This record gives sequence, structure tokens and C-alpha cells, in this order.
Amino acid sequence: MDYLKEVKEAINSVVPKEAEISGVELEGPEVAIYTRNPKIFHDNEDFVKNIAFQLKKKVNIRADKSLQLDQKEAKEKIMKIVPEDAQISEILFNDAFGEVVIEALKPGLVIGKGGQTSKQIIQETGWTPQIVRAPTSPSEILKGIRHHLNKYNSERKKILEETAKKIYSEKSGESWVRMTALGGFRQVGRSCILLETRKTKILMDCGVNVAAQAGEDAFPFLDAIRFPINELDAVVLSHAHMDHCGFIPYLFKLGYRGPVYCTPPTRDLATLLLFDYIDVLAKENKEAPFSERDVKEMLKYVITREYREVTDIAPDMRMTFHNAAHILGSASVHMHIGDGAHNLVYSADIKYGFTRLFNNVDINYPRLETLIVESTYGAKEDVQTAREETEAAFLKVVQETVNQGGNVLIPVFAVGRAQELQLVIENFYRRGLINPEVKVYVDGMTKESSAVHTAYPEYLRTGVQKRVLQNDSPFTSSIFQVATPEERKEIVQNGGSIILASSGMLTGGPSVHYFYRLAEEPRNTLIFVGYQGEGSLGRKVQSGVKSLPMTEENGKTKKLNINMRIETFDGFSGHSDRPQLVAYVRNLKPKPKRILTDHGEASKTIELAKFFSAKFGISSQSIRNLDSVRLK
Ligand SMILES: [Zn+2]
Repeated sequence: MDYLKEVKEAINSVVPKEAEISGVELEGPEVAIYTRNPKIFHDNEDFVKNIAFQLKKKVNIRADKSLQLDQKEAKEKIMKIVPEDAQISEILFNDAFGEVVIEALKPGLVIGKGGQTSKQIIQETGWTPQIVRAPTSPSEILKGIRHHLNKYNSERKKILEETAKKIYSEKSGESWVRMTALGGFRQVGRSCILLETRKTKILMDCGVNVAAQAGEDAFPFLDAIRFPINELDAVVLSHAHMDHCGFIPYLFKLGYRGPVYCTPPTRDLATLLLFDYIDVLAKENKEAPFSERDVKEMLKYVITREYREVTDIAPDMRMTFHNAAHILGSASVHMHIGDGAHNLVYSADIKYGFTRLFNNVDINYPRLETLIVESTYGAKEDVQTAREETEAAFLKVVQETVNQGGNVLIPVFAVGRAQELQLVIENFYRRGLINPEVKVYVDGMTKESSAVHTAYPEYLRTGVQKRVLQNDSPFTSSIFQVATPEERKEIVQNGGSIILASSGMLTGGPSVHYFYRLAEEPRNTLIFVGYQGEGSLGRKVQSGVKSLPMTEENGKTKKLNINMRIETFDGFSGHSDRPQLVAYVRNLKPKPKRILTDHGEASKTIELAKFFSAKFGISSQSIRNLDSVRLK
């Protein structure tokens, strides 16, 4: 490969012979350098910096295999080198990469001051540490993923080498750029965008429409792709919600075997939600379009990138994730296409406003011609109540309900709203605004999802981050009790508690169980805090239906009267409201030359596009699914 030669030349121009380089390998978008003298890189930190700067790549230094101790010995040595205070929970060896994964509650102590401890590990064991944070409460999903990646590490190594071959293949010269809407345009759900040049074909997101169940509108228009699916070069995933990631395993079922780029928390949360999706459907005797095996296959192909890490994903495409402040690890995607011939930002779901969970959305980009922006709350009347006011009104409803012995049911997306509400409720308790006798139950995937949050404090708002780092995570506070399916009946009977349960749109899962049990009793309250998709049970209840047919456990159908109090608080939303979307476009730097609206009901995407054209003089359109747009 010509590029490998280029890489080797760059390395040789920086490091002296004494570095004893024994191998250079391309691993997907990264470069691995093997050396018989790792110390020289530790003594001269500029070496790695200079090589990375020249190549514009992440560079990993690894010790030559001849320096490796056997695993048992290495493990003992590591336990001696690392202070006990670091609280190592697990050590796994990735033989193919010459790496040792060290999971610890305090990763900073494994790294040491100026990286001193981790350098010592390489020099004394020959294994390069990959240091990851242990969640503050045990997480099955994190453990499962870490073990899965470890088990298939030699296969993963091969996958990365294959990916590198594609990334560094010949460029095609002068090129066109075209995008095709395959889902999520003039609707919410099944987001999917095909981006093509003469040389490259990638998908941005590939989701399902959970509110549409298994109907015709449930899945993206993959049948409109006029090439074999294995010709796709990459999939780029903005965030873990099912309407963005839910159909990616199906690509693997169809035979796709290429990279899926996302942030580390997105990988873990998406896996959690995909397994849950299969599970929830199975409990309703329905079959998911893919199996657990497809999800596990997908995991082998995931390449994680952090925010603002510039990454070549094809000879003519360079991608960067930016903070979208919507859920943990959520990103807007910047695409630099054909040596800058065109620059695209796909906002995906963004919250351009205050949240307790995340720092502010990124609005600065190096270059920008086309913006694809979400429009969930894009209509003129979509103005959310201010956050402070929302929290006060929410507190009042909760107090009124529990004081009369009723239960408060809050259907939440297990990823996102659940944690935002946990922070709000935990804050009430700390300020003494809720009677400490009132119990708060979390049911469904929320516990696992919250645990994943504690493994990635760097993705959280600074204050929350601090608390997690000090092992005072609000998500694992003792006020939250995990409800098992057996306990549900009792919780309902006892009354006077707050229940956070997924799914968020009453489309299955524990929230529906509770709803059926609580609906007929007027002293109970249902509080909607998130978006209710068209066609979902949540939307029906929210719009005021007074009775519904429901299927009982014995299979019989009965009429369910809805007598409980129904409230909606839009101020907790993880989506921007209309003024926030307008402010986002106004403050974006640089200004886009063209705007395409997506991720909203037809009337909203159309109205918002018209407004942008009129207000900012930027050509804006609400294209439809199956429309193609030539960007260059
Ligand atoms: Zn989302």
C-alpha cells in the first residue's frame, strides 16, 4: 500500500534509529507503531505529537511482542505498579493489539501523573494499557460488550486492516456529491441518509420508526439503494436512539461487513436499546427484523471516535463528531467531502438550550455549505415552557398526586429523558421539596442505561461529571429503587410513589404495564415529558381519548377507561423548540448556503424551511423521503 510507505517515511523523518521500530500497521483510521524501545517515546513526547501532526492521524505506540511478559506475570506486575486506590475491577489482554484493557473506578490513578504509571506498565510488561472507567454501579451491558470485543480481538484487528485498505485506496479526482433521503424526512422515525460521491457510498443513521410497529412506514427505504449492500463503505451513527440506530443490525443481516462509526457511549447505549427492542417484541410474540447475533456481529465492526476527533473514513470523506447535547454521546456529524469540495453538517437531534445533563451544543465548524437540521418542534407554536417554570409545575403535580395517595407514572426513553428526570427529582429530594418517604421506582432499561452514564463522566455537564468522579453519582442515589416485574402490582397498590418506566411513548415495555394498572383511578397521574410519535399509544392518550381497548393477560379484550390525570411538560425535552432551532441556525458559524429540514412531521419541516428562507435568506427546503439532492 502506497499510504503505508508514506506513513513509514513520516515516522522515519521524526524518530531516530535507536527507537528500533519493528512494525507499522494501519488499523482503520489509526496508526500503530511497534517498537523495541518504548522508553525513547516516553522520554521524547514530541515524537508522537509530530508524527500525528504530519499524518493527521491518531498514533498508538506499542511495545514489540518480544518484550511482552506472559499474561499472568504481566497481571501481577500491573497490580503491583498501580496504586490500590485505583480500584481495578478487571484486566483483559487483547493479544492481537498487544494491549491490556484495565478497567478501574479511578482511571486517573492507572494513568498516573503525566502518564507516568501507564508508561511504567508498558516498559515493565510490554503490554500497552487501554484504560477504561468502571461504572459506579455494575452494568451487565458494559461488561458484555467489553468481553465480546476482547473475545474477538484478532478478528477486529483484521477488520480494521481491511477498513484501512479502503480508506487509503486511490482517490477518484474531480467528483460530484449527492445525498438521498431514505427515511426520517417529513416524519419522525427511521432516520437514514445516503451520501455518495463517484468513489464512496456511506449511510448516516439507519433507524426504525418504533411508533409505526412493523408496518410499511417502520423501516427506511433500503430497497431504493441500487447497489449491493456490501458496496457501502461506512455507516455513521449520530446517537443511540432507535429511530437512528435501530436498523443497522439489519444491514449486517443483509451482508454488510464494514465499519460503523459512533462515539463510545453511543456504541454501548445502542447495543442496550437494540437488545431491549428484540426483547420487548419477543414478549409481545412479535419478531424483530434482526437477531441478537446480528447485533453482536455489528459490534465487531464499530469504530469509536470522540467529539472533535477528525477521521478519514474514505479516500474522499473526512468525518468529525460534535456535541449535540441530546443524549449521552449524541453527535452532530461534520462531513468534509472531496478535499473540501463540499462540507455538510447533519445536526441529528440537538438540544440548543439548558439541560442538567450536558454541556452546550457545538455551533462552530471549520467550513459549512449544507446543513441538514432536525425539526421535531419546528412549528411556530412549538415554544417550550422555560426550564425553571417547568420544574416548578412538575413538582406541584407530583406533590398533589402523592399527597392524595396516587402514583405518578412518567413514561421515559430509557436513554435520555430518564436520566434528565432522575437529575431533576434527585435535586428536589436534596432540597427537601419532596417528602423523603415518597419512593421513586425506576423500571425497564433505565438502571442499565444510567450505569452506562457513570462510565463516561467526560460526556456529562461539568457539575454532574464532578459528582460521578467523586463517586456521588446522582443516577445511583439511594432514592432510586429498581422495580422488578414481580413488584409492579404491589407498587401500584401501595400508591404514593413516582415511577419512571420505559418506553417513552407507551409503545411497549413496563410503562404500558403500569399505564394499564393505573389508568382507571382518578387519583393517579400520567406525566409526558418527551415526544409522542404519530400513531403511538402515548400520542392517543396525550390527545385526550377517554377509553381504549386493552388486551388482558388472559388474552381477552376489555374496555379501559382513562380516568387518571394526564399532564404534559414539554420543558424537559431533549429536542430544541422552535426559538431554539432558529437561534441555532442564527448562531452557527459559518453560515450554511443551503438548509434541508428533516426529523419532523411534514407540516413542521415545511414551515421551518420556509421560515429559514424568509428570515435568513438561505435557500431552505423540506425534501421528501426518496428525494435526491445534488450537493456539488
Ligand atoms: Zn434522539
